[in-house]
Amino acid sequence: SRTFSPNAGSTYQQAIESKNKSTNAFVYLSNSDTPPAQCSEGPLHGLPIAIKDNICTAELPTTCSSGVLQEFTSPFDATVVELLKQAGGFITGKTNCDEFGMGSLNTHSIYGPVVNPFQPSSSTAPWDDRERRSAGGSSGGSAAAVAAGMCYAALGTDTGGSVRLPASYCGVVGLKPSYGIVSRWGVISYSDSLDCVGILAKRVSDVGNIFNILAKYDEKDLTAARPCSRRKAESVCREAMDRWKGKGKLKGLRIGVPKEYFPSPLSPTVLAPLRTLLSSLSSLGATLVPVSLPATPYALSAYYVIACAEASSNLGRYDGVRYGTRVEPPPGSDLRRTADVYAHTRTKGFGREVQKRILLGTYALTADAFDNYFLQAQRVRKLIKQDFDKTFKIPNVLSTPSSLLPDFDATSPTTSGVDVLIHPQAIRTAPPLSPPDSKSESELDVYVQDVLTVPASLAGLPAMSVPVGEGEDGWPVGVSVVGQWGCDEMVLRVGEVVE
Ligand code: GLN
Repeated sequence: SRTFSPNAGSTYQQAIESKNKSTNAFVYLSNSDTPPAQCSEGPLHGLPIAIKDNICTAELPTTCSSGVLQEFTSPFDATVVELLKQAGGFITGKTNCDEFGMGSLNTHSIYGPVVNPFQPSSSTAPWDDRERRSAGGSSGGSAAAVAAGMCYAALGTDTGGSVRLPASYCGVVGLKPSYGIVSRWGVISYSDSLDCVGILAKRVSDVGNIFNILAKYDEKDLTAARPCSRRKAESVCREAMDRWKGKGKLKGLRIGVPKEYFPSPLSPTVLAPLRTLLSSLSSLGATLVPVSLPATPYALSAYYVIACAEASSNLGRYDGVRYGTRVEPPPGSDLRRTADVYAHTRTKGFGREVQKRILLGTYALTADAFDNYFLQAQRVRKLIKQDFDKTFKIPNVLSTPSSLLPDFDATSPTTSGVDVLIHPQAIRTAPPLSPPDSKSESELDVYVQDVLTVPASLAGLPAMSVPVGEGEDGWPVGVSVVGQWGCDEMVLRVGEVVE
């Protein structure tokens, strides 16, 4: 077996040594003094890859940044981890995140917040005294690890924006693939119908490399997209791409710019880089089409109802009995009552944000609230999907009867609709990390950050954040490229032109 590439190894290793402490990105590191002689030959041979701490690894703990899973180590690797290892990747460590993926700033973590490694070029402060801004969440550790050069790529999870938002705040590329394309087996569930494993790296081509390794059908994942749906989506998508791929120009590509994605909390600072990008895409031959997705304003509320409801059910398994932390009731209580252990474990083990969401989710599922909250949210989810399906030229293979698919002709000039959507990824650049007790930010503001990421999650669509420049404050601005279900390759292709 070959030895670990010393150059790559030492550069990444040096970055870990000099930057991990002040970013707080890794919560567990492999013993990297022992070069991974066990690394297989393959496209990722010896390349260090970071894994978000809610994805199971057999050699390192998996804690979801939660008190309830301290000391927990999974007996197996998640399928995605296994695939990376088979391709020669070296799992370099586990990254900090919001507890169970719940958050947008990576501040709800038992390990403390992740500090964004970015420093504007105008800043003269020493790196360790740089302005403290959030790396975004919940995959903040993964984004910071990539941005600080501590790994070649990182895996995160994206339920409602947790890969795209940190990518945008840290100035790296972050892809949330189509729902069901990458295996969730061994990924700790937050909200199963929304959870996706996402990929972060500095370049779109590196994200694409990892995507090709991970986008495999896994029969262990019961929600995995079936091979026939994958093949169908691939063929309709290829047909559409044949019009413009490989020409170096974008003639024939139709880009939708949805008007609902410029909501009032959007900071004007993200607009200039977006405008520059759109005009350069149009000079390459792409057609810009203003589009409307009218259900968008309801997406955020629907997302939080569905995500909390599913989380309340998923997190029921942390009972202090089967695995994870166990907190015994104080002396004097009747220890035979399992309910006491259960209540104490959950009260001590879960952080405040997680407890809040379990309560909200449980409420949304009660008989009294079910119709007005949970069902209503499912109706909104359906409207969001319909909005996207009406806007894209390419049919959604999951909702189109296969008998209709052969009639689809992507090359016909009469086929209306767009190939991809492009919109701002976040409403602002990375927000400052406020000192622990300050109430500078209203609690609601934190959730508003997700307004531009949750629609693609509800519809299960591939979406990628690509850095496109800087805001007036000199901090990174990302744009989002969104495609029809199964058109991940198209999103990556457009992303390469955008970056
Ligand atoms: N910020 C969103 C939430 O808290 C999204 C999180 C995620 O994608 N894991 O639910």
